[in-house]
Amino acid sequence: MAVTRSSVKQSSQRCVAVQMFTRKWFWLCLCSGASALALAEAPAEPVGALTEIGLTASAASEADDAQEAAALFRSLEQSGITDPAPPATPERIAPRASVLGLAPAPREPERRSQFDIPARDPAAEPARTIARRVANFQNLRARVPGAVWHEDPQARFAIRSQASCLAELAALGVRAHLLERPLTTPVPAPVVLDGPIEGVLFASLHLDRDVEVSCELAARLPALARILHAQGVRVVGVNSSYREAPKVSFHTFGLALDMAAFRKRGQTLIVAQHFEVTPDDRTCQARPATPEGKALLEIACALAESHLFSSVLTPNYNEGHRDHFHVDLRPDDPRLFVR
Ligand SMILES: [Zn+2]
Repeated sequence: MAVTRSSVKQSSQRCVAVQMFTRKWFWLCLCSGASALALAEAPAEPVGALTEIGLTASAASEADDAQEAAALFRSLEQSGITDPAPPATPERIAPRASVLGLAPAPREPERRSQFDIPARDPAAEPARTIARRVANFQNLRARVPGAVWHEDPQARFAIRSQASCLAELAALGVRAHLLERPLTTPVPAPVVLDGPIEGVLFASLHLDRDVEVSCELAARLPALARILHAQGVRVVGVNSSYREAPKVSFHTFGLALDMAAFRKRGQTLIVAQHFEVTPDDRTCQARPATPEGKALLEIACALAESHLFSSVLTPNYNEGHRDHFHVDLRPDDPRLFVR
């Protein structure tokens, strides 16, 4: 997308200029109305280290979001974390030794063969394909030492029709629109996030990608945002949402989200840098030494306690998760996992 100083002024985009990624200047924009966070290389050098343009009084809170997001990006760059690439290889099993043993996994849930969704609904085929594929997944989580499992019948959910899920998004005030491009993997009602949710902005850390998830996951974001907001979080740096690979990942169903950094006012918590890996403690029994480590662990454990997600994976899980928290939703499965 071409963003120039004059085009930004003419549109209702709220942008700040930030210097990052190879020291080039970028416009960091909350695009008009839709307001997904967008980044574009600035063609001209802006004035000052951080220049606000195109701001109006009514846009104050969006401008504030953009400022906080800019601060998050700057913190990531200062930490040497720039435009992180999504993992392209299957997640590896933790190579680190732990004194903790393997927790016995609850038995596999019964797989659904009947679906309530009308056959012609756009979510029907993805729901059936996901059920078929998941039935053949190996239980990789059962091989990770130090994990904690719970079972909560209330956490069990079924994929809904596209219309009923989108209606819930609207009722929840989640700004999102249906993803138009054809996908190569089954995603029930894929949507693109269009703005902050409950005062929390979910910002893609990739220059060329929006935050894309199944409607089912988007419908959990207000509750997730409330948990984060209670911890003081304003912006979440998302390093992966929907992606096409690997085939055994819930990301390919739009049912997983990777969060690499959290911006509070005046502070950025970076999972890769601040989370304290504790192979010999169950994750939520650990006692981090630093305030940042403690704050990140509080976030992860509040997410686990909420029973909102089937999995909450921290850097304790394995090498492939050293730089983010992964959460996912598993249809028709009452099992909850944290590591
Ligand atoms: Zn993930």
